[in-house]
Amino acid sequence: MASPGTFFEPQKLDASKLEIQRNPNPSKLIPPEGLRFGRYMTDHMLQVQWTLERGWQTPRILPYQKISLDPTACVFHYGFECFEGLKAYKDAEGRLRLFRPHMNMDRFKESAARVALPSFESEELIKLIAKFVRVEERKKGYSLYLRPVLVGTSGGLGVTCPTSALLYLVASPVGAYYGDRTNAISLEATNGSIATRAWPGGAGRHKVGGNYAPCVPPEKSAQMQGYQQCLWLFGEDDSITEAGSMNIFVAFGVPGSKRFQLVTPPLNGVILPGVTRDCILKLAIEKLMPLGWLISERKVTMSELVAASDAGEIYRVFGTGTAAIITPVESIRWGHRVIKCGPQGNNHGDPDEDLAQLLKGWIEDRQCGVEEHEWSVIVDEVER
Ligand SMILES: *Cc1c(COP(=O)(O)O)cnc(C)c1O
Repeated sequence: MASPGTFFEPQKLDASKLEIQRNPNPSKLIPPEGLRFGRYMTDHMLQVQWTLERGWQTPRILPYQKISLDPTACVFHYGFECFEGLKAYKDAEGRLRLFRPHMNMDRFKESAARVALPSFESEELIKLIAKFVRVEERKKGYSLYLRPVLVGTSGGLGVTCPTSALLYLVASPVGAYYGDRTNAISLEATNGSIATRAWPGGAGRHKVGGNYAPCVPPEKSAQMQGYQQCLWLFGEDDSITEAGSMNIFVAFGVPGSKRFQLVTPPLNGVILPGVTRDCILKLAIEKLMPLGWLISERKVTMSELVAASDAGEIYRVFGTGTAAIITPVESIRWGHRVIKCGPQGNNHGDPDEDLAQLLKGWIEDRQCGVEEHEWSVIVDEVER
């Protein structure tokens, strides 16, 4: 018993306290061909409660289950929520790997701070994720999409800092689409006359739930016109920011020369700092720059894109994100114009000449340990 006046430091997140309760009724494995992204969840979830006074409680891996919260929990009313998305892989030797988890943890904590949710030690959450991945270990050929979520759970109708929160993680098996081609999509360029996804000083660079729902109605109307996602523009000059839940890259000619440039908009506060985006930039600097490519993070406006398209200089446009890694974009509608992006429908070219496929292969080699690289973290080594 604590004597009166004893002061307790709130507890830190501590992976060594993990308790595991296995699901007594594990579901059958769905064959990888039958998996669609985000459709099925695995048999377990990770949960950790937090309160302002006591800090982080015992982490638990439990059978996948419903969560019960007070109807006035602040997540429901005011959107105290943030999340992450990262993947785990099994390599050819059967070792489990996480891909750049520290980047996701840093971003998770920044998102949490933006919406007054608690912080934690990255290393501890990575250890918990490693344990979770071990519990969910599957046959070769499966990779797991991991979805950590943090929500404010304290009740009452005042808009204030949450005094309790729940961190949990669910996972979706995504099969091995190593080497697969992702189908090309079409985008509708959407500017402030219809909707703005993010603005300077807002929360657009954070993975907080409130950013996503307002993007769905404009996206729905784009879909009714046959375009899968919105390309979100910003500012008077209609500069490109990102699409749906992907960062955007444009590969095109350098006017007046035979060289190519790979360009993506800079992290100016209205763009989500994608881990895949960072990988593409680093790989391009490493592997394309020596071939004479210019690689830059800079503003790209719709008029620059139209001019490049008119000149036949767009080589390829693609989106990047953890789920599909690289998604080729075949066309962008902007007002009454349809801008064709890249050669012959994009999706049927010779893989050796296909930039999107080439970049995807380079990333996958590092994700799956074909090329040993510091981006890939071996789960055994985290557990040790
Ligand atoms: C998650 C996300 C991305 C992609 O980030 P990755 O870390 O590469 O998965 C891009 N844009 C938005 C809005 C996102 O939520």
